This record gives sequence, C-alpha cells and structure tokens, in this order.
Amino acid sequence: MGPKILVVEDEKSIAEIIQFNLEREGYSVMLAFNGQDALDVAIRDMPDLIILDVMLPKLDGFQVCKEIRRTSNTPILMLTAKEAESDKVKGLTLGADDYITKPFSPRELVARVKAHLRRNNIIATQVAAEVSSLGYADLIIDLVKYEVRKASISIELTVREFELLKYLALHPGRVFDREHLLKEVWGYDYFGDGRTVDVTVRRLREKIEDDPSAGNAKYVLTRRGVGYYFRSPDGAVDVS
Ligand code: CA
Repeated sequence: MGPKILVVEDEKSIAEIIQFNLEREGYSVMLAFNGQDALDVAIRDMPDLIILDVMLPKLDGFQVCKEIRRTSNTPILMLTAKEAESDKVKGLTLGADDYITKPFSPRELVARVKAHLRRNNIIATQVAAEVSSLGYADLIIDLVKYEVRKASISIELTVREFELLKYLALHPGRVFDREHLLKEVWGYDYFGDGRTVDVTVRRLREKIEDDPSAGNAKYVLTRRGVGYYFRSPDGAVDVS
C-alpha cells in the first residue's frame, strides 16, 4: 500500500478529482469533508501528507492546520482561492508546507505531493541515521546493534519489547495512547487490543526497571488515563 494521503475538502466533486488522481499514482486516499472530521482522521490514521482546503464547515483549514501542527510534522498542502494572497501567508505562518491555488491542475498537485513526500522521507532517513543510541540515565538503547544495556550490562528483550522501548525513547516525554502504540509498534494488520500494549510494557519494565511497579518505574512511565511515555531528561511531559 502506498503512502496515505488525507484530502480535506467539502466540495465533493473536487475531493473526488483529487482522490482519483492520487489513487492512480498508487497513493491510498482518505477523505474528510469538514474540519472536525479532518482532525479526527489526522490523529487516528496518521496520514503521510495532508491536502487541506481553507474554506471548510465547522473548523476552517487554518484552525485545522494549527491543531495538527501541535502534534505532527506531516506535510500539509493548503488549497487556497486564487485571489486571496493573504491566505497563503497565513497558511504558511500556521505551519503549512505549501499551498496550491484553485483552480489547480491535478498534475501539478500530484507533482507537489510527490516532492513533499520525497523530501520528508529524506529527512526521516537522515534523522534515523544520525541517532545511533538513545536512553536515559544508565539505560542505553543501541539502535545499531539492536541491544539494550543498563549500567553496561546487556538486557535480553524480545523484538517487540525492543521496538516499543525504541519508539517511546525516540519521543521522550511524549505520551502515546495504546491505540497509537499498537499501530506504530505492532503494525496496522496486528490483531490485538490495548491489553497487548499493557502486557508488553509490564514485561519490559520487569527487565529494565529497578522497581517494575507502575508507580516506581524510572524509564517507561504511565500517564494515567492516557498511555505511556519514556522519561525525558528534563522531566517534561507532552500529553497533547
Ligand atoms: Ca471548500
């Protein structure tokens, strides 16, 4: 399955033209017809890129853009009306990566989508290549050797425990709910629920923590009612 693109446009005929052209290029397309749905889909399905119209019912495109940027770096292409020069500036100020004016050529839209996805991929690869180990205090997660050491002693983890620890440690201080972790660590096709995450966290804690009880964990912490996070060096927590 190709990269996932969220198209937010209340005019169905335009949304369908965009969908048709993107699917023809092998992208998988999700549609949202108002601002609130756009936010829900963006949070739930984590698209690789978002095409966002400015004029929308409920929340407008600017509000949606601003909200998405609180938690995500997904490229956002805004669709603006040709005459509204100020809309372009406003969109870019709020964190949009690019804008396309209506009426647009589908071919140009597809070309821009490709360019942004390519650029984003390169950045992600660079980030991954630069980080070779993660951790907090005496816990080292070696991403090259696929190994975890605590006070220089190697700890045996299953692949899933390692992947979960790595994912959390890549975003220290950021709290992820179980559903998000299932998607990111176990994958879309995995048949399981939040308890799978809880069980894996418990096993992981038994291996890496001095005291594995939830209240005393030092590395993988619980945010009650929300989910789990890896301790950040400055103790900051981001639940957004
Ligand atoms: Ca519209």
